[in-house]
Amino acid sequence: MSSNRIPVGVLGATGSVGQKFIELLNNHPWFRVAEVVASERSAGKKYKDAVNWILSSPLPKDVSELVVKDTEPNLESKIVFSGLDSSIAGSVEEAFAKKGYTVVSNSKNHRMDKDVPLLVPEINGEHLEIIKTQQFKGGCIVTNPNCSTIGMVLALKPLQDKFGLEAVNVVTMQALSGAGYPGVASLDTIDNVIPFISGEEPKLETEPLKILGTYKNGKIIDEQIKISAQCNRVSVVDGHLECVQVKLKKKASKEEIISAWRNFTSEAQELNLPTAPIHPIYYFEEEKYPQPRIHRNIDKGMAASVGRLREDPLFDYKFVVLSHNTNRGAAGGALLCAELMKAKGYIK
Ligand code: NAP
Repeated sequence: MSSNRIPVGVLGATGSVGQKFIELLNNHPWFRVAEVVASERSAGKKYKDAVNWILSSPLPKDVSELVVKDTEPNLESKIVFSGLDSSIAGSVEEAFAKKGYTVVSNSKNHRMDKDVPLLVPEINGEHLEIIKTQQFKGGCIVTNPNCSTIGMVLALKPLQDKFGLEAVNVVTMQALSGAGYPGVASLDTIDNVIPFISGEEPKLETEPLKILGTYKNGKIIDEQIKISAQCNRVSVVDGHLECVQVKLKKKASKEEIISAWRNFTSEAQELNLPTAPIHPIYYFEEEKYPQPRIHRNIDKGMAASVGRLREDPLFDYKFVVLSHNTNRGAAGGALLCAELMKAKGYIK
């Protein structure tokens, strides 16, 4: 491992996503966790005393001894990953960017800002150009999409490229960890499905339009696709499963669609970014796959697993997609964004 790893700060380091950042950054070849930030409840304590560590990997020793800082933008690390609660993320991330920090965020607050990339490195790396129009004088904000959006857009991108997309309908079955820790009460979730996740459906209906949009003359022009989403919370720990129906602009055979998925690759793979999956999409022929417990960790928990492609009497085709919500859908996805930024010279 290089001794010149870039020091980074993790905002919201004690939360579900923050812990995943710390796990993924442990032994990362380019970045190392130098500072951790959380709320006033945690600030001033050693990380090991402030955090309720819920991951199966051990808490990294060097991080466990760090003293948690508050959200004032005066860290020594110039790059910060944010897993802050959305009640506070907007203003804190902006304050960091204004002070010259590079902020890579999981929170919803700045995702739809016109000058902020909503980045999926396999899809829209060219949207990073829009950072140049941000008014932060040296700092910047880059965001990672909603955890359900990510799996779906990975599956949609090859279809958009080859056949064009007219309309999408999606019904999600989302894991409990998507609600943070402790999240939804056990008496609400055991033996149950909750057919509502606050604010989720509008995100799934709008974020893909920006991600699949075109960067032109300093602007991101949204893709014109009709999307309808229904979101459910199910009793699964990690991994969001989504049933997707698509209407394509051009006719396509089942074989052509599967081949588009299987052959899909991107600059994240070409650049050999450390957190990039070897294959962004895995297509399964078995009718009962993909499943959260079996496939959520495939390819470092960074790939989308797709299956059950069949013709649809209402749309053209329907299929199922699965992705890991705290890994690909949060910390892993944001880390991959930062890796792309480094590879392209946005992080020195
Ligand atoms: P979480 O487990 O509730 O963690 C929230 C973090 O924010 C904790 O570190 C908490 O610190 C900190 N925090 C809360 N209030 C604060 C305040 N007033 N000032 C400073 N820090 C404060 O939530 P999460 O699931 O990790 O989600 C974090 C963010 O990522 C959210 O915006 C969420 O929407 C987004 N996200 C989550 C997922 C997922 O799958 N979980 C996926 C994509 C995006 P203390 O411990 O000190 O309270």
